[in-house]
Amino acid sequence: MKHHSIIDLIERKRDGGILQPDELQWIITQYTADSIPDYQMSSLLMAIFIRGFTGEELAAWTEAMLHSGDVLDLSHIPAGKVDKHSTGGVGDKISIPLAPMVAACGVAVPMMSGRGLGHTGGTLDKLESIPGFRTRLDKKEFVEIVERLGLVLGGQSETMAPADRRIYALRDSTGTVPSIPLIASSIMSKKLSEGINGLVLDLKTGSGAFMTNEADARVLAETMVGIGQSHGTKVVATLTGMDQPLGVEVGNANEIAESLDVLSGGGPADVVEITYSLAADMLLLAGVDTDRDVAITRLSDAVNSGAAMEKFQEVIVAQDGNPDVAEDRSLLPVAPGRYELLAREDGVVTKCDARDIGVAGVRLGAGRERKEDLVDPGVAISVLAKIGDSVSKGQPLAAVAYGDENRLQAAIPLLERAWEFGEGADPPPLVIGRVE
Ligand code: URA
Repeated sequence: MKHHSIIDLIERKRDGGILQPDELQWIITQYTADSIPDYQMSSLLMAIFIRGFTGEELAAWTEAMLHSGDVLDLSHIPAGKVDKHSTGGVGDKISIPLAPMVAACGVAVPMMSGRGLGHTGGTLDKLESIPGFRTRLDKKEFVEIVERLGLVLGGQSETMAPADRRIYALRDSTGTVPSIPLIASSIMSKKLSEGINGLVLDLKTGSGAFMTNEADARVLAETMVGIGQSHGTKVVATLTGMDQPLGVEVGNANEIAESLDVLSGGGPADVVEITYSLAADMLLLAGVDTDRDVAITRLSDAVNSGAAMEKFQEVIVAQDGNPDVAEDRSLLPVAPGRYELLAREDGVVTKCDARDIGVAGVRLGAGRERKEDLVDPGVAISVLAKIGDSVSKGQPLAAVAYGDENRLQAAIPLLERAWEFGEGADPPPLVIGRVE
């Protein structure tokens, strides 16, 4: 590989110039091999943060990150291989019912998920609240499970997209996280290393999302769809609202219980709507169906026949968890303390703030305040009144299961300010837009 001068490249980007694909590849290779120090990479990241990337630069940077480690080859699996990714929200458990529903319809779903980030929950933390469930799988086991079951629910292995792991840690400590090209390349390098041929993205926007502004979420969606196009992988993005939590349950084990409800044909209407909508996109991308309504019917048949729940139980067994949770929710952990937040007045709920409720969840122990914190799988917030609901004074707005009185006291002020009341309000739209 031709040698370049990192200082020249930093200066060129700083001054608004364009970096060539071989230069970007060289930077990622050298940084992953420890030949470029963190201080020079930090400086380059800040230049990228300020100057941005052209489409060609972004494609080359993402390809280089994706090839910085192992790339799964699932080409021997005949089924279409499709994954789903959400940019993260509060009460966003969609991946959990969706993945077995889609797999039960004949799509291979090699799902690699993340942990909670900030006030948003993470699929891995939720899955680990199933007794025994193991999300740390090596590459061989990950591939073996998806080959056998058409579904695997694991975490990102250490050997995949290592450049992203290091760059993300650097961005976290250098003020360079909220950059659309850096976020898009980070997510896409990880997802494309899974060997998928289609990806469904759920881009959240609203108070409880990282992109609070809809215009930014749309640009991020367009950027990720563009990276997919350059790579030859079809990506469909849906913009969905995250001003209030999704569903009733916010936490970990309680979100598994709500996911099991969806797999049993029940569950809150908003969770059901988004699950079926994104799952239908996956069937269309995999080529199982060409008509959306047919895809939706196929998914509801998979739920009604019990095939989707059976698929979930198979994957729980393969990953050492207790599949009996499907029939017996009492096997899921629940924290012992009980607290109810009551409405202070009569009125219609005009605000049920996803961010405040998400942060309250973190304070209770459902997420992490520091990276090394342990999650308490049994703490739970049940959101009992949402925007547009009429409530009477004294009616419960939220029911909390908590483990530690001090943590509860830290969470209460956030819960108290999360709800506002007025004369009337319509529930906010769930699906805001689509990019493909
Ligand atoms: N999630 C990621 O994986 N990367 C980012 O840059 C932001 C969110």
